[in-house]
Amino acid sequence: MRVKILGSAAGGGFPQWNCACSNCRGVRAGEFRGKARSQAQVAISSDGSSWFLLGASPDLRSQIEATAELQPREGVRQSPVAGVVLANADIDHVLGLLLLRELQPLRVHATESIRRILTEDNSMFGMLQRVPNQVAWSNFLPGAMFSLLNAGGDDSKLRCRSLSLGQHFPAYVSPERRSQLMAGEASLGLIIESPSGNRLAYMAAVPQIDDALLAEFEAADVLLFDGTFWSDDELIRIQGSGQTARQMGHVPVSSADGSLSRLAGLRRPRKIYIHINNTNPMLKEGGPEFRRVREAGWEIAEDGWQFDL
Ligand SMILES: [Zn+2]
Repeated sequence: MRVKILGSAAGGGFPQWNCACSNCRGVRAGEFRGKARSQAQVAISSDGSSWFLLGASPDLRSQIEATAELQPREGVRQSPVAGVVLANADIDHVLGLLLLRELQPLRVHATESIRRILTEDNSMFGMLQRVPNQVAWSNFLPGAMFSLLNAGGDDSKLRCRSLSLGQHFPAYVSPERRSQLMAGEASLGLIIESPSGNRLAYMAAVPQIDDALLAEFEAADVLLFDGTFWSDDELIRIQGSGQTARQMGHVPVSSADGSLSRLAGLRRPRKIYIHINNTNPMLKEGGPEFRRVREAGWEIAEDGWQFDL
């Protein structure tokens, strides 16, 4: 399985349009020792010709244009993108679906709750259902293994299992709709298994780490983990108000019960932080936070990375 990291930032990207934190100002001024990043997006393939997207970011158009493997290869209208797997209904995880509306056959794997939010409450997603056989939706249940299929139903040989991580649906979901949905289907981590049995764990929004989750990570070969915030009060300190990282569903990297400390005992997986918010000080290469993460054996994802497993 080939894994490509098309985008590595949290929602808003880096720099973020309305942010003048020291990181964002530094990037705009060309003085930041570190890289700009687009919003988190991962693509996987077992054969190099048919690709599945983990989420669909608002930056998907430019991410595809920056990635030769995802560009049309034959005929006038064609795409190597066979399907999408959704882990939640957040804007920065699903908006890219609307960019894929040009009548290209596609399969979207999602929990029933996430599919209902998108297709029953948000009429714009009707653009994905304008003609028969445009987007095929496949429901999956948290915990159940399923095969990634293209729009025509061909099996990619990639298998996926989701873990229920968070109970919170996005703020745009009405209370009435929320009451009809399964809370365990709100926010998921994805375990992808390659034909050879290697495992990728994609966990971009992790509110807490328990022993069951640690066991899942120890059984993975590569862990792409929530690197959104360095500290719990990061946004509050920068903005003067707002929510803590944990209130937003993200365990911070630092602190005694942060991910660096809680995941320090992992032996098997290659550990890579992804979904990094523009305010996170570990983005600054060579800075103390960057060095601490690297010395602990972690990597910090950059747009354009790829690896095989
Ligand atoms: Zn910023």
